[in-house]
Amino acid sequence: MLVLVLNAGSSSLKYQLMKPESGEVLASGLCERIGIDGKLVHESLGKKSKKEIDMPTHKEAIEVVLETLTSGETKVIDSIDEIEAIGHRVVHGGEYFNSSVIVDDDVISKLKELIPLAPLHNPANIMGMEIAKEILPTKPNVAVFDTAFHQTMPASNYMYAVPYEDYKDHGVRKYGFHGTSHYYVSNKAKEALNKDDSKIIVCHLGNGSSVCAVRDGKSIDTSMGLTPLEGLMMGTRSGDIDPGVMAYLMEKKNMSAEEVTNYLNKKSGLLGVSGISSDLREVIEACENGDERAKTTIDMKCNRIKKYICSYAGMLEGVDAICFTAGIGENADLIREKVCSGLEFMGIEVDTHKNKDRTSCDIKEINKDTSKTKIFVIPTNEELVIAQDTYNLVKA
Ligand code: ADP
Repeated sequence: MLVLVLNAGSSSLKYQLMKPESGEVLASGLCERIGIDGKLVHESLGKKSKKEIDMPTHKEAIEVVLETLTSGETKVIDSIDEIEAIGHRVVHGGEYFNSSVIVDDDVISKLKELIPLAPLHNPANIMGMEIAKEILPTKPNVAVFDTAFHQTMPASNYMYAVPYEDYKDHGVRKYGFHGTSHYYVSNKAKEALNKDDSKIIVCHLGNGSSVCAVRDGKSIDTSMGLTPLEGLMMGTRSGDIDPGVMAYLMEKKNMSAEEVTNYLNKKSGLLGVSGISSDLREVIEACENGDERAKTTIDMKCNRIKKYICSYAGMLEGVDAICFTAGIGENADLIREKVCSGLEFMGIEVDTHKNKDRTSCDIKEINKDTSKTKIFVIPTNEELVIAQDTYNLVKA
């Protein structure tokens, strides 16, 4: 089966054409600056190409993608009829969805209801589905949610200590994100451990970062919350802070709620503290050149990950494996080493040599042979999960 995986953002569209049974990727790419001018970065048949092409809306972007897949030097299929289903990444499924679903009118209306919880993402995701239905009317669409994997969290972990009516009336609770990645990575680790009641902690460290505690294949807690702002220090997001900071800033700097939200989401994190960049590579480089603020930034980033690992190890009543994934988790040996160092008392012993090894594989063990806890580097593959869920629902 050929599945087109779509991940629609407010001005972007990521895509992959893949075979879910084998995981083979026929083509992938990204449309950027939709609604501004339009840029396509595409990869197929081992070749990368870039072109500037007008994309006034997501509709033209999807049309450009379909044309790129079916014509010219980038052609990988003869006709769009060969695409059998479309899998959509959806950011927020609220409490409605604890697994992937075939998209119908009821699903779309629930996603619309959830827009207040994800005002930037869900409208783009809905638009992607509506346009796919218009252009490929006979093909099924499947929605795969970032939040679904975390719906197994117990109330004692997903509730906030605020008046209960706001949970009931306004859905104020922790939902968590990066669910497809936490599922994929924890499942790989679970297979490798091959034991009952496995206790796994996944550190998804990209621009957006979150940690997840997974017991016997089920998410029991995760660091992101009602929104992706909670938890770890990220590229431009603050992560956990005293909520009192918001009211303080609003008063001191005369900021509106929107300005504070923008400040905490776009101007904080690695960028805000280092004053250098949201890209960890640039902060590491500055640190190596003796920049003290950069050093503090990296120490903060690592301390917070460590804090979550220790807290989740307590909640899981032990830990069999710690997994690192995403841009930072897969590539930054410095961060993995700093996060794990000092945790030998918990049976977590990183092997410096294995940790520095750069060969890429599905799962790499970087702990010492004496380590009670396994430490894995597992490249995430959210698109594969989306394609497989799509395949399983459509063939059923
Ligand atoms: P996104 O959340 O945007 O998908 P990624 O998973 O691509 O993010 O991760 C981006 C982050 O990974 C950036 O902070 C980048 O600096 C970091 N990164 C990528 N490669 C390396 C590397 N070799 N060393 C350190 N950090 C890296």
